[in-house]
This record gives sequence, C-alpha cells and structure tokens, in this order.
Amino acid sequence: MQEAVTSPCKPGLGAAAFAAAQTSNEAKLRYPVCYNRSMPRKSVAQSRCALCGAKEISEPRGEEKYCRDCWDKKIAVEEIVAREFALKRYIRAHSAEKYLIYHSTLKRPCGQLIVVDDGYDLFLTMMLYPSFAWDEAAYHLEGDPEGRTFAEILVDVVAAEVIEPWGGGKWHLEIFRSTNPEPEDWNGEM
Ligand SMILES: [Zn+2]
Repeated sequence: MQEAVTSPCKPGLGAAAFAAAQTSNEAKLRYPVCYNRSMPRKSVAQSRCALCGAKEISEPRGEEKYCRDCWDKKIAVEEIVAREFALKRYIRAHSAEKYLIYHSTLKRPCGQLIVVDDGYDLFLTMMLYPSFAWDEAAYHLEGDPEGRTFAEILVDVVAAEVIEPWGGGKWHLEIFRSTNPEPEDWNGEM
C-alpha cells in the first residue's frame, strides 16, 4: 500500500506528496491515497482515451488512461484550480516557516502550514479548517475516471511553492483536520 515518493499515481506532485504523507503517518490521513494502485487492475486493457474516447492512451506513464491532448487539458485544468489557492507566509525563521492557506472563494484562511527543517529532512504539518470543502471534487471533466479533491490539489501547491523552493530533498507531510473553524489565539505572557 505504501508508494515510493518518486512514483506518483496521479498528475502533479500531489500524488507523491500524498504517498509521502501516508508513509510518514498513515493513520492521520482521512482520505484514500493512491487507491487505484492498490486495487487489482482489470486485465482487459482499455486502449482508448477515457476523456475523448477516440485517441490512443499514452498518459500518464505506467497508468495510461488518457491521450496526450486530453492529459494536457486535464493538467491545465488542475493548474487553474491550484491557482485559486494562495499560501501566505507570515513567520519566517532560520529553519521553520508558517503559512496561512487561502482560497479565492473565502476571505478568511482555510488552513495553515508549518514547515520545520531539522537540517536533514523537511517536516510539514498542514491543518485544514472545516470552512472549506476539502473532500469535494476540485473539477469535473466529462467521463474522467480520476477526479481529484481540493485537498489533493493543495498538496500540489505546497509541493510546488514550499517544498521545491526549499531545495527539495526528503520530506514528510502530516495532514490534520481541524474541528474548529480557525485556531484559537493564545498570546501567552507571564
Ligand atoms: Zn483523449
């Protein structure tokens, strides 16, 4: 059930990120990860693209379901959906950062992200607030057998905007679902 970080089962880096998250802390993830890999595959291979039903499948490598054109279209749609998220850094320390996660449909942040660098690996902790529909399909393409949730798209965004600029390398991601709409603020002073 565990996947190598280098073998995404879905478009973008999100799959790798999800696989990594699952490896580091399986119990904390609430949604299925790479489910189509762990399921036994049908022996009858479908050779026509799932979206247009016409052209030969060639994408993605090893999990071919789409023709080149439809795959490009799907990736383009995912990029548009991903741009609706914004990560705003509000703490920057030597080896740690904290971000607020915004979505264009909401005024208030819908999540937060903490990144800690221990000198070797990157440790990311993401908190998702219930004010946003994380488990809903992020987009719909007619006939698409593989939708993706907003939470999965967000992992793509984190991988591209936080992990990659940090220099990549080995990293671990934990995702928590908050039951409170936003965290309480405690400014402790003795
Ligand atoms: Zn196609």
